[in-house]
Order: sequence, then structure tokens, then C-alpha cells
Amino acid sequence: MPRKSPRSRRKAGTPPRVPSAARVRSAPGKSRARPARAARSMKGARPVVPARSRARRPAQRLRPAAAPGPRRARAATPDPVRVRAVLEQLREAYPDARCALHFATPLQLLIATILSAQCTDERVNIVTPALFARYPDAAAFANATPAELERLIHSTGFFRQKAKSIRDSCADLVARYGGEVPRTIDELTALRGVGRKTANVVLGNAYGIASGIVVDTHVARLAARLGFTRETDPVKIEMALMPLVPREQWTLFSHWLILHGRAACNARKPRCSMCPLSPHCPKIGVTLSQ
Ligand code: SF4
Repeated sequence: MPRKSPRSRRKAGTPPRVPSAARVRSAPGKSRARPARAARSMKGARPVVPARSRARRPAQRLRPAAAPGPRRARAATPDPVRVRAVLEQLREAYPDARCALHFATPLQLLIATILSAQCTDERVNIVTPALFARYPDAAAFANATPAELERLIHSTGFFRQKAKSIRDSCADLVARYGGEVPRTIDELTALRGVGRKTANVVLGNAYGIASGIVVDTHVARLAARLGFTRETDPVKIEMALMPLVPREQWTLFSHWLILHGRAACNARKPRCSMCPLSPHCPKIGVTLSQ
């Protein structure tokens, strides 16, 4: 009976043995890739790649460098020329942009902005005349009876938390600043119940101080669709937008985006076909438009 060769006696599915000469051995000063290549060139032999060699081959080195799609590239690094074109279109579209909340003093704007959270500006403007008449200064708000204050602001929603924020922030104003609203972002955000967005609204609109960019739901949505930032946290969005927009336009920029978010770039179905920004907008994330 003829003797079978070792290869023909091998069971099906058994990996072929690699000759010892092709196995990788550590050799100081010598490349370890050479034995692996030798193993690959052996017919039927599985390539043996040393652990160190594998570790040096991240997946992206095995593939050609992926060319980022135009939408992704624009989202990562907005072209300054495109940003300027967007700003110019917004300025032309909303020449009368201004704060929609009614106020006569910085304190009133602070209170109105606290009330505007999760509420329309129109609703806040309905509530504030009676509120400001009842509580004329920070001391009056600080000493307000919670039940009465809550009743007056009830229709703006989240009235218990808002009443607490109003009383706490006004108590801080009385204790630290004699009832006056301070003029710096650090002082304002140190007040209880006052966040960065509220502070930016007050500084930009009551004092004309460009301390930052107000980021509300409209600003966040449009900043993403316009490819200005991929951030989702409001403070990170603000930090990403500030270098793109001239400082003297920071306050207006927020008003422009808020107005445009209401007029055209709404959340569910933006009106891209009639949008003046369309030639300059990558429409990031827009799947349905009209
Ligand atoms: S083109 Fe569309 S997505 Fe872009 S800003 Fe206008 S409405 Fe929004």
C-alpha cells in the first residue's frame, strides 16, 4: 500500500502547519516582517504575523485614506467665506432683529429671561406687565411670597422652579450688588438661578455688552444645519460659534438665528426651497424639507 504524503493525511479543516523556518522568531536588530512574508508566500500556509507587527497596523493604514464627504468637511471646518455669506444674508433678511422680550430695566430683562425658559416670548410678555407692577425692584422680588409669585407666573410653566430662581437671584442681587444687576458674565452666572444663556441675554440686550452668544434651541439647531459646529452641548456650541462671528454681531447673530428658525428653518420641515441661506447651507441632518 502506497504511503500517503503528510499533506494528504491531514484532516479536513485542520490548519496547515507552518514550517519551522517560516515561523517568526525574535531576532534582535532584524525586521520581523520578513518571516511573516515568507509564511504568506508558502502555498497553503496561514500567514503568521507577530503580535508587535499586528499592533503597528491600525485599521486605517490598511485602507486608503477616506476622503471626507463634502457635508462632513464643511461641518468640521466652516469656510470663513461661507460663514460671512450666511451672516450677510441673515443681516439682510432680519434688519430689525432685536430682543423679543419686553423690558425697561436690566432687572426686568433678567426676570423675563428666567420666565422665557420652555415658554414663548409672547406668553412672557403677557405675564410681565402685572409682575413688574407688583414687584418694582430686586428687593420686592426677593421678599415675594412664593405662592403669590407662583400664581402670577403660573402660565409660563415650571412656575415653582422659576419662582425660586427669581427669588434666589434677586436675594443675591440685594445682598451683593445693592439690588443692581452686575455687568460681567462671571458675576451674573454666580447668581443663583442664572445660567450662561440668561447672563448673555441680559448683558447683550440690556447693557450692549458682547459677552457671548445666546444658544437656545433655534440657535443650536441652525448652527448644526449650517455646518458651523457638530457640538450638541449649548456651552460648547457657543464656544464654537464665537470665533466664527464678529464680536460686534454676537447679540444680533442669536436674534437672527432665532428669527430664521421660526420663519424658515423650523425643526420638523425646514423651508429650504425659499430660504435665502440655501446656496450657502450644507443642510446637515436635514432629511425632509419643503
Ligand atoms: S437651507 Fe434649509 S436647513 Fe439651511 S438654513 Fe435654510 S431652511 Fe435651514
